[in-house]
Amino acid sequence: EQKYDQGLAKSRKTFGERLNALFANFRSVDEDFFDDLEETLIGADVGFDMAVEITDELREEVKLQNVKEPTEVAQTIVQKLVDRYEQDGSNEQNAIRFASEGPTVILFVGVNGAGKTTTIGKLAHQYRQAGHKVLLAAADTFRAAATEQLQVWGERADAPVVAGKPQGDPAAVVYDAVERAKAENYDILLVDTAGRLQNKVNLMNELDKIKRVITRSIPHAPQEVLLVLDSTTGQNALIQAKEFNDTTQVTGIVLTKLDGTAKGGIVLAIRHELHIPVKLVGLGEQIDDLQDFKPNEFVYGLFK
Ligand code: GDP
Repeated sequence: EQKYDQGLAKSRKTFGERLNALFANFRSVDEDFFDDLEETLIGADVGFDMAVEITDELREEVKLQNVKEPTEVAQTIVQKLVDRYEQDGSNEQNAIRFASEGPTVILFVGVNGAGKTTTIGKLAHQYRQAGHKVLLAAADTFRAAATEQLQVWGERADAPVVAGKPQGDPAAVVYDAVERAKAENYDILLVDTAGRLQNKVNLMNELDKIKRVITRSIPHAPQEVLLVLDSTTGQNALIQAKEFNDTTQVTGIVLTKLDGTAKGGIVLAIRHELHIPVKLVGLGEQIDDLQDFKPNEFVYGLFK
């Protein structure tokens, strides 16, 4: 929880400071106040529509309840954002789903540099610490460095890596990994994939093929298709989420680099537009810097 606070320090400083300044600078809750509030929300990347909606709702409530003090509005804003997150997908699971028997397969997708390999390393470490048998698959066969990097993380986390020939078929690597996971009774298989954007159609076909190979070997797998997004890219992350979700059914989002951004509001925008739950958040480059996503803590941390 302390880590959560530290990770969000930068978000809080910029966005939180703006909010605090807003409450300090305004003596009354007037139209200028609402304009400033709306701008602050847009700046935090909650998305234009949501910023306008929340401000409108607030304007209405303030009128009905005859609120005069800006500080009285603060708590209402925080509560509204938490409610927003929950209302946009209350019947979805926030936690990672596991297979009831046999290996659980988690497929990681996302553009290069988003943090896929790092997240897999961190997650492998968590599961190993919890006593699970974990296998990794390096299905980005186009970049030699990608496989090497996964191997480095595999060693750190104490999880073996299945890799293929350079330029080989990524689906073949995944096939080998799934078969090994079954034969050697692994609990969890984490699959790293390519994220080159130069040829999107090719990439999406490749991901689709990988997914089919997994399902053919294990009927209910993959249990999760996690899209890894770099939160510092703000609204671009939302565009990427839409593109990936159109072709591979994404079951959850990993939002990385929340330790280095003032744009944490993107969590709400993604949830609102795509109804996909954020399952994990990356809060740094170290092996322990990965946490389950908790909407309440997150929103309060952001707006404190
Ligand atoms: P991939 O290409 O999607 O596999 O991305 P990588 O896992 O190689 O990560 C790209 C860069 O982002 C690396 O330098 C990582 O150390 C860094 N990175 C990943 N996750 C985080 C995070 O949560 N916080 C910070 N600050 N850096 C991260």
